[in-house]
Amino acid sequence: MIWLLFGAPGSGKGTQSKNIQAEFGFGHLSTGDMFRKNIKEGTALGKKAQEFMKDGNLVPDEVVIGMVGEELSAEKPCILDGFPRTLPQGEGLSNLLDEKSLALGGVIYLEVPHSDLMNRLTGRRVCKKCGEVYHIDFKPTTKEGVCDVCEGEVIHRNDDKPEVIENRLSVFLNQTEPLLKYYKDKGVLYKIDGVGESSEVFSRVEEILRKNH
Ligand code: AMP
Repeated sequence: MIWLLFGAPGSGKGTQSKNIQAEFGFGHLSTGDMFRKNIKEGTALGKKAQEFMKDGNLVPDEVVIGMVGEELSAEKPCILDGFPRTLPQGEGLSNLLDEKSLALGGVIYLEVPHSDLMNRLTGRRVCKKCGEVYHIDFKPTTKEGVCDVCEGEVIHRNDDKPEVIENRLSVFLNQTEPLLKYYKDKGVLYKIDGVGESSEVFSRVEEILRKNH
Protein backbone atom coordinates (compact mmCIF):
# COMPACT_ATOMS: atom_id res chain seq x y z
CA MET A 1 0.00 0.00 0.00
CA ILE A 2 1.27 3.43 -0.98
CA TRP A 3 0.34 6.73 0.70
CA LEU A 4 1.16 10.11 -0.79
CA LEU A 5 2.12 13.11 1.31
CA PHE A 6 1.17 16.10 -0.72
CA GLY A 7 1.85 19.79 -0.08
CA ALA A 8 3.78 22.87 -1.12
CA PRO A 9 7.51 23.17 -0.37
CA GLY A 10 7.79 23.84 3.36
CA SER A 11 4.41 22.34 4.24
CA GLY A 12 6.03 19.73 6.48
CA LYS A 13 6.04 16.64 4.24
CA GLY A 14 9.52 15.57 5.32
CA THR A 15 8.80 16.03 9.03
CA GLN A 16 5.48 14.19 8.89
CA SER A 17 7.01 11.39 6.78
CA LYS A 18 9.52 10.81 9.56
CA ASN A 19 6.71 10.74 12.13
CA ILE A 20 4.76 8.20 10.07
CA GLN A 21 7.87 6.08 9.61
CA ALA A 22 8.51 6.05 13.34
CA GLU A 23 4.91 5.39 14.39
CA PHE A 24 3.70 3.04 11.65
CA GLY A 25 6.96 1.51 10.33
CA PHE A 26 6.22 2.61 6.76
CA GLY A 27 8.99 2.96 4.20
CA HIS A 28 9.73 6.50 2.97
CA LEU A 29 10.64 7.58 -0.55
CA SER A 30 11.43 11.26 -1.02
CA THR A 31 12.30 12.19 -4.60
CA GLY A 32 14.01 15.38 -3.36
CA ASP A 33 16.23 13.31 -1.01
CA MET A 34 16.99 10.85 -3.80
CA PHE A 35 18.13 13.68 -6.08
CA ARG A 36 20.21 15.28 -3.31
CA LYS A 37 21.93 11.93 -2.66
CA ASN A 38 22.73 11.58 -6.36
CA ILE A 39 24.10 15.14 -6.48
CA LYS A 40 26.31 14.43 -3.47
CA GLU A 41 27.60 11.25 -5.09
CA GLY A 42 28.18 13.03 -8.42
CA THR A 43 26.16 10.54 -10.49
CA ALA A 44 24.88 11.30 -14.01
CA LEU A 45 21.34 11.47 -12.60
CA GLY A 46 22.51 13.95 -9.95
CA LYS A 47 24.18 16.18 -12.56
CA LYS A 48 21.01 16.21 -14.64
CA ALA A 49 18.75 16.93 -11.64
CA GLN A 50 21.01 19.74 -10.42
CA GLU A 51 20.42 21.74 -13.63
CA PHE A 52 16.75 22.04 -12.67
CA MET A 53 16.91 22.03 -8.88
CA LYS A 54 19.29 24.97 -8.57
CA ASP A 55 16.62 27.35 -9.89
CA GLY A 56 13.70 25.65 -8.16
CA ASN A 57 12.36 24.05 -11.35
CA LEU A 58 11.07 20.51 -11.68
CA VAL A 59 13.24 17.69 -12.98
CA PRO A 60 11.66 16.27 -16.20
CA ASP A 61 8.81 13.83 -15.64
CA GLU A 62 10.39 10.85 -17.42
CA VAL A 63 13.54 11.12 -15.25
CA VAL A 64 11.53 11.20 -12.00
CA ILE A 65 9.09 8.46 -12.99
CA GLY A 66 11.98 6.18 -14.03
CA MET A 67 13.77 6.77 -10.73
CA VAL A 68 10.67 6.07 -8.62
CA GLY A 69 9.86 2.97 -10.70
CA GLU A 70 13.23 1.48 -9.74
CA GLU A 71 12.65 2.06 -6.04
CA LEU A 72 8.97 1.23 -5.53
CA SER A 73 8.42 -2.21 -4.14
CA ALA A 74 5.65 -4.15 -2.51
CA GLU A 75 7.75 -5.09 0.52
CA LYS A 76 5.96 -2.88 3.03
CA PRO A 77 3.62 0.12 3.10
CA CYS A 78 5.41 3.20 1.90
CA ILE A 79 4.99 6.97 1.90
CA LEU A 80 5.85 8.91 -1.21
CA ASP A 81 7.02 12.40 -0.32
CA GLY A 82 7.33 14.99 -3.10
CA PHE A 83 6.05 12.70 -5.87
CA PRO A 84 3.98 13.06 -8.01
CA ARG A 85 4.35 16.77 -8.72
CA THR A 86 2.69 17.03 -12.15
CA LEU A 87 -0.33 15.43 -13.83
CA PRO A 88 1.89 13.25 -16.10
CA GLN A 89 3.69 12.05 -12.95
CA GLY A 90 0.28 11.22 -11.43
CA GLU A 91 -0.51 9.12 -14.50
CA GLY A 92 2.99 7.61 -14.38
CA LEU A 93 2.47 6.62 -10.75
CA SER A 94 -0.88 5.09 -11.55
CA ASN A 95 0.79 2.90 -14.23
CA LEU A 96 3.59 1.91 -11.85
CA LEU A 97 1.08 0.88 -9.18
CA ASP A 98 -0.79 -1.26 -11.74
CA GLU A 99 2.44 -2.88 -12.98
CA LYS A 100 3.53 -3.72 -9.44
CA SER A 101 0.02 -4.62 -8.19
CA LEU A 102 0.21 -1.97 -5.48
CA ALA A 103 -2.76 -0.11 -4.02
CA LEU A 104 -2.98 3.61 -3.34
CA GLY A 105 -4.13 4.06 0.28
CA GLY A 106 -4.74 7.78 -0.12
CA VAL A 107 -3.28 11.23 -0.57
CA ILE A 108 -2.78 13.41 2.50
CA TYR A 109 -2.64 17.09 1.64
CA LEU A 110 -0.92 19.31 4.23
CA GLU A 111 -2.54 22.68 3.64
CA VAL A 112 -0.44 25.70 4.71
CA PRO A 113 -1.01 29.38 3.73
CA HIS A 114 1.51 30.96 1.36
CA SER A 115 2.75 33.51 3.93
CA ASP A 116 3.65 30.74 6.40
CA LEU A 117 5.47 28.79 3.71
CA MET A 118 7.82 31.68 2.93
CA ASN A 119 8.72 32.05 6.59
CA ARG A 120 9.18 28.33 7.11
CA LEU A 121 11.43 27.93 4.06
CA THR A 122 13.70 30.94 4.59
CA GLY A 123 14.33 29.87 8.20
CA ARG A 124 14.62 26.15 7.48
CA ARG A 125 17.92 24.39 8.06
CA VAL A 126 18.62 20.71 7.44
CA CYS A 127 21.20 18.20 8.55
CA LYS A 128 23.34 17.14 5.59
CA LYS A 129 23.90 13.73 7.15
CA CYS A 130 20.56 12.50 8.58
CA GLY A 131 18.07 14.97 7.08
CA GLU A 132 16.72 16.22 10.42
CA VAL A 133 14.86 19.49 9.82
CA TYR A 134 15.39 22.63 11.97
CA HIS A 135 14.17 26.23 11.91
CA ILE A 136 16.22 29.20 13.08
CA ASP A 137 13.31 30.55 15.18
CA PHE A 138 10.96 27.63 15.91
CA LYS A 139 13.39 24.74 16.27
CA PRO A 140 17.02 25.87 16.47
CA THR A 141 19.90 23.43 16.95
CA THR A 142 21.42 23.42 20.44
CA LYS A 143 24.88 24.12 19.02
CA GLU A 144 24.93 26.35 15.97
CA GLY A 145 25.38 24.44 12.71
CA VAL A 146 25.51 21.03 14.42
CA CYS A 147 22.74 18.43 14.30
CA ASP A 148 21.29 17.50 17.71
CA VAL A 149 20.54 13.98 16.47
CA CYS A 150 23.74 12.87 14.70
CA GLU A 151 26.18 15.81 15.04
CA GLY A 152 26.20 16.18 11.23
CA GLU A 153 26.58 19.58 9.56
CA VAL A 154 23.36 21.62 9.50
CA ILE A 155 23.01 23.74 6.36
CA HIS A 156 20.74 26.20 4.58
CA ARG A 157 19.68 24.41 1.38
CA ASN A 158 20.54 26.44 -1.73
CA ASP A 159 16.99 26.11 -2.97
CA ASP A 160 15.68 27.49 0.37
CA LYS A 161 17.19 30.90 -0.45
CA PRO A 162 14.55 33.63 -1.07
CA GLU A 163 15.21 34.08 -4.80
CA VAL A 164 14.62 30.36 -5.49
CA ILE A 165 11.72 29.92 -3.05
CA GLU A 166 9.39 32.24 -4.99
CA ASN A 167 9.88 30.12 -8.08
CA ARG A 168 9.36 26.84 -6.19
CA LEU A 169 6.09 28.15 -4.77
CA SER A 170 4.85 29.29 -8.17
CA VAL A 171 5.87 25.93 -9.70
CA PHE A 172 3.74 24.29 -7.00
CA LEU A 173 0.73 26.48 -7.82
CA ASN A 174 0.99 26.02 -11.58
CA GLN A 175 2.22 22.46 -12.03
CA THR A 176 1.49 20.54 -8.84
CA GLU A 177 -1.76 21.92 -7.46
CA PRO A 178 -3.81 20.56 -10.42
CA LEU A 179 -3.12 17.09 -8.97
CA LEU A 180 -5.46 17.95 -6.07
CA LYS A 181 -8.47 17.78 -8.38
CA TYR A 182 -7.09 14.63 -10.01
CA TYR A 183 -6.98 12.81 -6.64
CA LYS A 184 -10.20 14.40 -5.38
CA ASP A 185 -11.99 13.00 -8.44
CA LYS A 186 -10.57 9.56 -7.60
CA GLY A 187 -12.05 9.92 -4.08
CA VAL A 188 -8.71 9.43 -2.29
CA LEU A 189 -7.85 12.97 -1.16
CA TYR A 190 -7.64 13.81 2.57
CA LYS A 191 -7.06 17.50 3.23
CA ILE A 192 -5.69 18.52 6.63
CA ASP A 193 -4.64 21.75 8.28
CA GLY A 194 -0.82 21.78 8.17
CA VAL A 195 -0.48 24.75 10.54
CA GLY A 196 0.55 24.21 14.17
CA GLU A 197 3.08 22.23 16.15
CA SER A 198 4.46 19.23 14.30
CA SER A 199 2.85 16.94 16.93
CA GLU A 200 -0.58 18.55 16.40
CA VAL A 201 -0.32 18.13 12.64
CA PHE A 202 0.81 14.54 13.14
CA SER A 203 -2.25 13.74 15.24
CA ARG A 204 -4.38 14.81 12.24
CA VAL A 205 -2.31 12.64 9.91
CA GLU A 206 -2.49 9.74 12.34
CA GLU A 207 -6.26 9.88 12.53
CA ILE A 208 -6.54 9.43 8.77
CA LEU A 209 -4.03 6.59 8.65
CA ARG A 210 -5.62 4.73 11.57
CA LYS A 211 -9.06 4.91 9.96
CA ASN A 212 -7.87 3.84 6.54
CA HIS A 213 -4.79 1.67 7.04
P1 AMP B 1 11.94 18.68 -2.28
O1 AMP B 1 13.03 18.30 -1.36
O2 AMP B 1 10.84 17.65 -2.34
O3 AMP B 1 11.40 20.07 -2.03
O4 AMP B 1 12.56 18.70 -3.76
C1 AMP B 1 13.65 19.54 -4.09
C2 AMP B 1 13.75 19.69 -5.59
O5 AMP B 1 13.94 18.42 -6.21
C3 AMP B 1 12.51 20.26 -6.28
O6 AMP B 1 12.48 21.69 -6.22
C4 AMP B 1 12.70 19.75 -7.70
O7 AMP B 1 13.70 20.49 -8.40
C5 AMP B 1 13.27 18.35 -7.47
N1 AMP B 1 12.18 17.36 -7.35
C6 AMP B 1 11.83 16.63 -6.25
N2 AMP B 1 10.78 15.84 -6.50
C7 AMP B 1 10.44 16.07 -7.79
C8 AMP B 1 9.42 15.58 -8.64
N3 AMP B 1 8.51 14.69 -8.21
N4 AMP B 1 9.36 16.05 -9.91
C9 AMP B 1 10.26 16.94 -10.38
N5 AMP B 1 11.24 17.46 -9.62
C10 AMP B 1 11.34 17.04 -8.34
